Amino acid sequence: SLTLGIVGLPNVGKSTLFNALTSNDALAANYPFATIEPNVGVVPLPDPRLAELAELYGSEKLVPATVSFVDIAGIVKGASEGQGLGNKFLANIREADAICQVIRVFDDPDVVHVDGNVDPSSDIETINTELILADLQTLDKALPRLEKEARTHKDKRPALDAANEAKRVLDEGTTLFAAKLADVPELRELNLLTTKPFLYVFNADEGVLSDEARKQELRDLVAPGDAVFLDAKVESELIELDEESARELLESVGQPEPGLHALARAGFHTLGLQTYLTAGPKEARAWTIPQGATAPQAAGVIHTDFERGFIKAEIVSFADLIEAGSMNTARSGGKVRMEGKDYIMADGDVVEFRFNV
Ligand code: GDP
Repeated sequence: SLTLGIVGLPNVGKSTLFNALTSNDALAANYPFATIEPNVGVVPLPDPRLAELAELYGSEKLVPATVSFVDIAGIVKGASEGQGLGNKFLANIREADAICQVIRVFDDPDVVHVDGNVDPSSDIETINTELILADLQTLDKALPRLEKEARTHKDKRPALDAANEAKRVLDEGTTLFAAKLADVPELRELNLLTTKPFLYVFNADEGVLSDEARKQELRDLVAPGDAVFLDAKVESELIELDEESARELLESVGQPEPGLHALARAGFHTLGLQTYLTAGPKEARAWTIPQGATAPQAAGVIHTDFERGFIKAEIVSFADLIEAGSMNTARSGGKVRMEGKDYIMADGDVVEFRFNV
């Protein structure tokens, strides 16, 4: 499955956040056979629709979609000292599908900042610079080959042009994601780090969390990347508490929900994913598909045979189903559609697949 790699300077709260990400018992109940690796944090995507579906269908359990975060923290220590990033660190980032940078915006005289003071834009710059340098190295290695290929094969010319354009952008200090060159097909084989989508987690204290103007400034700083604001220390306390105490703690810091919920949603969005829903007496479940997936591809997530034998999908939107009160009423009310092989799934489609096996 797709993953976000957590990076950031030392002492910004990566470990604190990662501990909160890995300590959720709720998941173990639904995924008893999942191998949870020590450096992977799997969090459920909050989805209030599942409880409503479960009520309609009398489902025994809820199975939310999940988002996976890989901890590639700690190995970045040399970055700000100009030592560059280690090969293992770069290999780990290369394997991730998106980059999740934790940035310190909390004040605490007891926690030393590597550069002496809290400065989000300088932290972002530091990580960007390291990733950009790594990509420039990759390009410098690839360009002689691409030039040679372009001389003998005309159809290789676009690959060379794309690589040169990427080099020009990176030389200016811009990531390929920010320059909107992430989806250029000719660059794909080079697996460049800065083409990955970025998600920024601002580890903030109460002052910042309740300061909308300051948050907007920080959002603008990282656009087009996604931004999430949370207090990692509070998150690590929340997971230790029962529901009632957790609610009280959230209220006392003026937050409507745990930051991990917002993080899961943002991570899901950054990875370009969406869900569709199924329900029955056994379970109400959210299934993960890429945005833009067709109905047969969506069926294939349940079982590869479903994709191969796909006939059609019976689909009702979640809102229509809840309003009708049952699948039968939705059907007789004309709210249920029969969709074929070319149908592009919409978020919140409630689906029953018809297939041959
Ligand atoms: P890492 O080096 O990025 O993994 O950072 P850590 O998670 O180890 O955190 C470094 C220090 O900052 C620890 O002493 C944490 O308790 C503290 N810390 C982490 N998050 C917060 C926060 O949101 N607020 C405050 N005040 N301290 C934090």
